[in-house]
Amino acid sequence: MSASCLFCRIALVEIPATIIARNATCLAFRDIAPQAPVHVLVIPVEHAQSLNDAAALPVLSDLLSLAREVALQEGIAESGYRVVTNTNADGGQSVAHLHLHVLGGRALGWPPG
Ligand code: 5GP
Ligand code: ZN
Repeated sequence: MSASCLFCRIALVEIPATIIARNATCLAFRDIAPQAPVHVLVIPVEHAQSLNDAAALPVLSDLLSLAREVALQEGIAESGYRVVTNTNADGGQSVAHLHLHVLGGRALGWPPG
């Protein structure tokens, strides 16, 4: 937990967000600047800076499981979607709290930029 971490503060409901799903250890909320018709962020409530720091976290299966639930709930499971976690500078990570992006609702380009 970090008092200055944006996503910790969202998890503490200190900063508003549109929370759409949760499980025992993780939370899903809509991205503030959606890059696709469906763009949801899935985070562990417990702070980890990135996937690099999540080795000891027993929540990785919960994280991926909630991404899957979000895809079903948002109606993009059949049409298709992408789950991405950006890590550190070259990965383009801008918020230092581990998160999965769940993107869908349109055809997504590949490879990413
Ligand atoms: P990253 O660039 O670290 O992979 O992803 C961070 C994501 O957090 C971005 O897609 C960005 O739009 C989103 N984001 C940044 N600030 C906020 C916020 O205050 N609320 C919400 N819901 N999303 C945010
Ligand atoms: Zn945090």
